[in-house]
This record gives sequence, structure tokens and C-alpha cells, in this order.
Amino acid sequence: MAVTINEDYQDIREGVRALCAQFPDEYHRNVDEVRAYPEEFVEALTREGWMAALIPEEYGGSGLGLTEASVIMEEINRSGGNSGACHGQMYNMNTLIRHGSEAQRQAYLPKIATGELRLQSMGVTEPTTGTDTTKIKTTAVKKGDRYVVNGQKVWISRVQHSDLMILLARTTPLTEVKKKSEGLSIFLVDIKEAMKDGMTVKPIPNMVNHETNELFFDHLEIPEENLIGEEGKGFKYILTGLNAERVLIAAECIGDGYWFTERVSKYVSEREVFGRPIGQNQGVQFPIAEAFIEVEAANLMRFDACRRFDSGLDCGAQANMAKYLAAKASWEAANACIQFHGGFGFANEYDVERKFRETRLYQVAPISTNLILSYVAEHVLKLPRSF
Ligand SMILES: Cc1cc2nc3c(=O)[nH]c(=O)nc-3n(C[C@H](O)[C@H](O)[C@H](O)COP(=O)(O)OP(=O)(O)OC[C@H]3O[C@@H](n4cnc5c(N)ncnc54)[C@H](O)[C@@H]3O)c2cc1C
Repeated sequence: MAVTINEDYQDIREGVRALCAQFPDEYHRNVDEVRAYPEEFVEALTREGWMAALIPEEYGGSGLGLTEASVIMEEINRSGGNSGACHGQMYNMNTLIRHGSEAQRQAYLPKIATGELRLQSMGVTEPTTGTDTTKIKTTAVKKGDRYVVNGQKVWISRVQHSDLMILLARTTPLTEVKKKSEGLSIFLVDIKEAMKDGMTVKPIPNMVNHETNELFFDHLEIPEENLIGEEGKGFKYILTGLNAERVLIAAECIGDGYWFTERVSKYVSEREVFGRPIGQNQGVQFPIAEAFIEVEAANLMRFDACRRFDSGLDCGAQANMAKYLAAKASWEAANACIQFHGGFGFANEYDVERKFRETRLYQVAPISTNLILSYVAEHVLKLPRSF
């Protein structure tokens, strides 16, 4: 599509597209059907250095910014794949790079860059507190040179395909802090070690081929050197990862949006009913055009959020708004795509129903549309707080 504003970063786009071309629709469809992890695909991305995009050059990565990382994720989704299998490494990376110690950076980044270690997991959500993150009940109590963790997490992605997880836990009880966002800390958890003693992983089968799990912590011991940054400041640090995640997911939705509008445009131009292509009807054209316009508009906000993140500026509002706009646009594009494929939209071999399920997730995770509206109302427009 010639008019997209989307053709910057050509070298990255061409490189990722060439790799993705080796993994056609059929590959992703088969992986989805058997609910497998796209191991070969993630391996290839790692081997070619794409998963180390954000790692500074001195630690073996390419030292790129979130903008470039978002282009990589966008291209994966635009090719028909699903970045959900591997985007954790991108959004977790900034948390480690920005807030980790030099010793932590040296210990982990070179190994992540070569693919020896994967940093794909982030454990924040809990079953009884949901989006009310500062109320989490998982605790980490200092005992000598270790922290002892007890509690539970839910919906934690890619635990079984990662070596490391960033975990948010409360280190000072809520009753003893001035602000509810204080007293939370983040830790780097060695997943395989944790599974030997103290952490139990229970998979949650779900609508998308996206590995999620319940985690149970029963006196899990974490060495004190795995605390990231200062104790009690974890909420501020985790926001770096959460903002990066929102921006990356906005880019993925944009990739999906292009995938849906391109697929449906081709289909309706070829499919003839009542003696002419169905795409000749304005009732068919307009929803597709509308979705495309919204994808393009969301893309502008996504690049603004990326720019702010990479310049170290506050980007909470832009990251949330980009995610909101992009997830809405990709969902509208998905609806138009499935609608105008008629019955074929529901056939697995067209891949529309798979991408439809995948993009639907982003209305709810990693933050629901309502919570973004609430953020903008209360933090940007300064309306009275509802919670
Ligand atoms: C496939 C998948 C992968 C995930 N991966 C991870 C992961 O790797 N790590 C992790 O930590 N979490 C993960 N999550 C969790 C995800 O971030 C949460 O599901 C999401 O933030 C919503 O939280 P919740 O499910 O607890 O919903 P709740 O907080 O219970 O909210 C339910 C719904 O109620 C509405 N709502 C709630 N409060 C309000 C309010 N005040 N005003 C208006 N509406 C409101 C919203 O519409 C929301 O969708 C994942 C979830 C899924 C489904």
C-alpha cells in the first residue's frame, strides 16, 4: 500500500520481512493448531540478532531504541506472525538496562544477546487484585542475604519458554507506606532454579496460542543481588517496562491492522458475487477504508510515544493513547476482514480467524481499554479520581 506513513526504517523492515518470509502463514497456522511455541521462529529471530535490538553494543546487542524494536514487532505481525511469542524480551529489556546495576547488566545482557538466556517473562498480575496493581499481595521479605517470596500471580506469559522473569512483589506492607505505589520492588528470577524449589507453574489454556500460567510462590528464595534498583521503588521501575509494553503492542496492532486491511482488500477485489467484485460495493469499501484510516492515525501516536520513550521523556499518556488507538484500529480492521471474507473468514486455512483472536486480546491485555480511558481522564485531564 503506497500511501502508508509506515515505510521508515527500511533496512529493519526488509531484514525482518526476509526472515518472516521463511515462516509463511502455514507455519503459524500449524503452530496455532497444536498450541505449540514457535520455537524455530523465535530461534531465527534470536540468531539474526533481532531479539537483542535493545541491548547496548558493549554487551553484544545492536543498541537500538524502542522505535526500532517496535518496527521489528510490527513487521512480525504484519507478516502474519504473532510477536506475542517473544515481545516480552523487548519490553523487559529496558527495565533491566535502565534500572539494573552494572553487575546485573554484565551478568545477563551478553548471554541474552547470544540467545543463551531468554528474558521473556514479567510477573505483575494477581488473581485477587487484577488491575489494581499497588494492592498486590505477593510479598518479598528480606532474610539475611535473600528475599523470601510468598504469594500468587496469574496470566504470566512465556514462563515455560524463558530463563528469566521480572517479578513485582511488595517489600513493605501497604499499611506502612505513605503512598500506595511505594514499598514495591522488582526482582530478576531465575525461572529454572525457582521451579526446583518455591515456585509452581500451572498453565492456563486460553483462546489464543499464547502461553500463560498461574504461579504459586511458597517461600521462594531470591538472592539479594537479584533485586533490581532500590528496594521499594519497584513500581516506578516496572512502569518503564509497562510503558514499553504498551508502545510495542501498539506497533503489533498496527502490524495486524495492515495485515487485515491488505488481506481483505485483496479478497474483496477478487471475490465476485452478483456478477462483480464485492469490493465494488461502497458498503464493503467504507468499513475497510475507515479501519485503514484509523490504523494510519494510530501509527502517528505510536511513533510519538516511541520518540518520547527513546528521548527519556515522560511517555505514559502517549504510550497509553497509542495502545488504545492501535488496539481499536486493529480490532475494527479485524472485524471488516472477517466480515467481508464471509464464511471463508471462519476457515482456519485463511488465517483470518487466528489473527482475529490474536488481536482481540489487546482490548484487555496488557491493560484494558477502560483503564486507559481512566488514566487519560484522571492523569491527563485531571478529573476527580475514581480509585
Ligand atoms: C493472554 C494474556 C497474557 C497476559 N500476560 C501477562 C503477563 O505476562 N504478565 C502479567 O503480569 N499479566 C499478564 N496478563 C494479565 C493482563 O495484564 C490482565 O488480564 C489485564 O491487565 C486485565 O486485568 P484483569 O484480568 O485482572 O482484569 P480486572 O482488573 O479484573 O478487570 C476486568 C475488566 O473490568 C474493567 N474494569 C476494571 N476496573 C475498572 C475500573 N476502575 N473502571 C472501569 N472498568 C474497569 C476492565 O474493562 C477490565 O477489562 C495477561 C493476560 C492475558 C489474557
